[in-house]
Amino acid sequence: MPTYPIKCACGYAGDAVARVRDMDQDGKVPCPECGQHAEQDYSRKTINNTNTRFTLTRQRSWAEGYNPRTAREAQRLFGDRGGQCIDPLTGVVTFKDRHEQQMYERRKRELSEKADRRRKAKGLKTTADLSSE
Ligand SMILES: [Zn+2]
Repeated sequence: MPTYPIKCACGYAGDAVARVRDMDQDGKVPCPECGQHAEQDYSRKTINNTNTRFTLTRQRSWAEGYNPRTAREAQRLFGDRGGQCIDPLTGVVTFKDRHEQQMYERRKRELSEKADRRRKAKGLKTTADLSSE
């Protein structure tokens, strides 16, 4: 038998198992708590489905991840080329698909090269400063 998400006047909110002939003419389903016919609650059903799709399609990366303290900053650095993969609260990295993962990897390389160049530039300057003394 199919289940229907319902929200009953008695306070029950959840799934109710029902046959089509158990429904009244308005499509209301008998509440498992009190037996009254209750309104089907599609808003809740939709939210649940969206969450399920989300966790099913976004793959968590076990190789990537950020400290929750720096996750927001990392998200900002990646911008629109991978920032959406980083959860700003937990630092967990997820990929929607292969394409998004590649975009993230490219951006990550770019950022680390930039950081390398900055370090090198600083290093050269320090060396120059030392040799001029
Ligand atoms: Zn009820």
